[in-house]
Amino acid sequence: MAHAHSTRIQEFIGDPVSDSPAVGRDKLEEIFQDIQKDIRFDHELNGCLNCGICTATCPAAHYYDFSPREIVQLLWTENLEGIYDAMQEKIWACAQCYTCAARCPFDNSPGGLVMLMREAAIKHGMESAKNVLRPFSRVMLKLISTGNQLSPDMINADGFPDWGPNISKVDAPLKVLRKAIPMPTLNTTETAWEVNLTTSVELYTIWEETGVLDQLETIDENLYDVILDIMDEKREDLEDWEEEQADADDDD
Ligand code: SF4
Ligand code: SF4
Repeated sequence: MAHAHSTRIQEFIGDPVSDSPAVGRDKLEEIFQDIQKDIRFDHELNGCLNCGICTATCPAAHYYDFSPREIVQLLWTENLEGIYDAMQEKIWACAQCYTCAARCPFDNSPGGLVMLMREAAIKHGMESAKNVLRPFSRVMLKLISTGNQLSPDMINADGFPDWGPNISKVDAPLKVLRKAIPMPTLNTTETAWEVNLTTSVELYTIWEETGVLDQLETIDENLYDVILDIMDEKREDLEDWEEEQADADDDD
């Protein structure tokens, strides 16, 4: 006889030995469908022998509680709870080196599948994604606002406390050293190289149109707001510059 009300176990299917919070079945399915409907999914997953060759060659598997074989098996068997569980920590161990893809006899790409799971974690605003990406907020700010991901002025003890005491060894007269480099685009310390205004705005437009900024808003709203302000200014600067060019052309 059917019960009138579903039990907690019927509503929230989770691994009883996992620390992950219980998540509704609908949410688990939604997350899996986001991974599965990506155009790359069928290319990255063709079946799995469970042979473990990928894990044997995976550098991350040597150092972390992570196995590409396990990731592929979870997706291949559509283990929704296991997929969600792996997205809480394990998927962030992958180094994206793609050694696994080169070795798999089924032409799977476990690293590529991890990438899809990471994108889904970001899309769903999972805490694991926020925690992993938080230390990179300065790099993301630099990348999106200038078109560079790392600049010489960032290589200092404050910027990379995790590099330990050796960071002081790279403390150097950067402005002088950079001026000594022949290419003018490298005569800068605040960007890795000079990206002109037009290119910077074009790059930003690509990230805007492809949904990268929406993803950023999901995981770090403050950073998103700062970048929006910077890029609004850049767009205005570009418009002013284009008007000046047009005026100059009219005068000729
Ligand atoms: S993904 Fe490929 S290498 Fe890894 S266990 Fe499956 S068949 Fe083997
Ligand atoms: S891409 Fe990721 S899963 Fe594949 S071998 Fe490299 S670290 Fe391991």
